[in-house]
Amino acid sequence: MMLTGKKAIVTGGSRGIGNAIVREYLRQGAVVHGISRKPADNQAELEAVAKDAGGALHWHLADVTHEEEVTKALEAILAEGGIDVLVNNAGITRDGLIFRMSTADWEEVVRANLTSAFFTSRMVARAMIKQRSGAIIAISSVSGIIGNAGQVNYSASKAGLIGFSKSLAREVASRGVRVNVIAPGFIDTDMTKALGDKPRDALIAQIPLGRVGVPADVAALAAFLASDAAAYITGQVIPVDGGLSM
Ligand code: NAD
Repeated sequence: MMLTGKKAIVTGGSRGIGNAIVREYLRQGAVVHGISRKPADNQAELEAVAKDAGGALHWHLADVTHEEEVTKALEAILAEGGIDVLVNNAGITRDGLIFRMSTADWEEVVRANLTSAFFTSRMVARAMIKQRSGAIIAISSVSGIIGNAGQVNYSASKAGLIGFSKSLAREVASRGVRVNVIAPGFIDTDMTKALGDKPRDALIAQIPLGRVGVPADVAALAAFLASDAAAYITGQVIPVDGGLSM
């Protein structure tokens, strides 16, 4: 179990990719603090996984776009001592062509996907620098690398996470803190369920591995990057996309 004894924070873990990361971290023995607006539906199942692996799960209800709320949640977590891993996973879409995109749709997406990572990372990086170890992981998207029509707001926020993470990686590397980015492709979650069957099939046709991804595909890399096995990896952007973006 690669994460035994590690203490991790995962934002937006109530469902989807974040939930799979929480589960995988627990399975590998970590103590996980989930920050989400509501608790996970599978709380009991997650607690059983934690119990089996000797870890623990704590849930903190907060909106990551709300600076005060997220600061309070992080203060409570950091007050209990060290922190080893932060995963900035919470994110939203408000898709539309630029001509039809409202300013609110632009601002909400940038705040939820990018500014939220600034709020959490600023506090957590300070604690990690003091203890001279830690791993920060951002969940970006292939949309932030190759772009996607109808997603100027989302792609900008996800590309922003890449620049943010590379700069932060350079700021904290000398203190033993690593910062990396995962760029998922098309992963089967609530976020992508809205897509109809036809666009879905067209998308699958473009994926070299010939299938959509599952949240566990992303969680496996998130666990590796959080672990000491990734001790010499920082400032990297790693796609988990079945070859879509190559
Ligand atoms: P999802 O909608 O199923 O889950 C998103 C999670 O973020 C939920 O738990 C939600 O409650 C939480 N969240 C959103 N806004 C929040 C806020 N203001 N405060 C606290 N929590 C908040 O989506 P998902 O597919 O699991 O996406 C997870 C991450 O992966 C997102 O950042 C998303 O952009 C990224 N991503 C997803 C895909 C995909 O194909 N599903 C592809 C690339 C990147």
